[in-house]
Amino acid sequence: MKLQDILEKESLSKDEIVKLLQSKDEDRTLLFRKAAEIKEKYIGKKVWFRGLIEFSNICGKDCYYCGIRKGNKNLKRYNLSDSEILSAAKFAYENNYGSIALQSGELENDTFTKRVEKLLFEIKKMSGGKLGITLSTGEQKPEVYKRWFEAGAHRYLLRIETSSRELYRKIHPYNAKHSFDRRLECLHSLQDIGYQTGTGVMIGLPFQSTSDLADDLIFMRDFDIDMAGMGPYIEHPDTPLMEHAGLLLPIAERFDLSLKMIAILRIMMKDINMVASTALQAIDPVGREKAIKVGANILMPNITPGKYRDSYRLYNNKPCTDEAAEDCRGCLEARVSLVDTEIIYGEWGDTLHYEKRKRSI
Ligand code: SAH
Repeated sequence: MKLQDILEKESLSKDEIVKLLQSKDEDRTLLFRKAAEIKEKYIGKKVWFRGLIEFSNICGKDCYYCGIRKGNKNLKRYNLSDSEILSAAKFAYENNYGSIALQSGELENDTFTKRVEKLLFEIKKMSGGKLGITLSTGEQKPEVYKRWFEAGAHRYLLRIETSSRELYRKIHPYNAKHSFDRRLECLHSLQDIGYQTGTGVMIGLPFQSTSDLADDLIFMRDFDIDMAGMGPYIEHPDTPLMEHAGLLLPIAERFDLSLKMIAILRIMMKDINMVASTALQAIDPVGREKAIKVGANILMPNITPGKYRDSYRLYNNKPCTDEAAEDCRGCLEARVSLVDTEIIYGEWGDTLHYEKRKRSI
């Protein structure tokens, strides 16, 4: 079948997704054009902000790819104070960002649960309930997710990292703390509780095939996610996965595959929220803008206080670690206007997808 015909289909098969992932030259242009058309039709030429607060890099897990893994001793650990977090949230509120995202390393204990809960209440209070809040604080018990939901978080981002059980085992220690099944259970409980649920994968991991990536997209469709955050895998020297760096695709190919994943998911899930991830910009100075062009509609300006940013180093070359929050806004406005897109201030930017899903429950 010709690529043009695949792009016109209601629903894509795995083989067709693989073909799109492998597309080159004019076919690749057709794919990107179609994704851009769908974004414009269902979402508009718009992006919404989630002010990103990376509030702590202290992590109890040991994921083989991640720079803030517990076993990495070459990293200064930090934990923002409550007042630093609140002032970052206040910055987002006063600058009309609409939403924030609180992200950290992964801890599961009572102190952490209560701390996040208290922060959620305080941020809601400070903004008169107006600031939307996404959490990205890893795997937790359903009771914990519930408490945080009741305290005001309404979106949760927990990447599945890869939907292949075998690959998941290769990139994580094989123990109860890093279980694929637990991750799936967590995603289900987030959805059951009523969060707008987001997931995503890393693209271009060692041992990952195009067929795995097609399965990832199908996983997201079948799970009926509301939000997606996907980006290229970028090796980090102080991690065990570095050992397999020889297997990696060239960085430009990982970037290209990431753009294709975003474009294909936009075609498959027309009305979800999709992040233009920071990792894209680590590879290409205008990587996020390219992602916006082919389907992404969410940007996460970093509003973590500058002095900590360098320590939230998930991967090499993480961009913008030396900027202040004020610099980010101006920079993003200029960037987004380059791709003829408008930043929507002061709105939560919830997905139509979530609204429809809620009504059908
Ligand atoms: N612990 C939190 C969030 C911190 S990590 C959570 O579990 O959600 C956020 C994301 O960064 C991870 O989900 C992973 O997909 C991504 N990440 C980690 N290491 C990376 C690397 N080397 N390259 C690209 N992305 C990476």
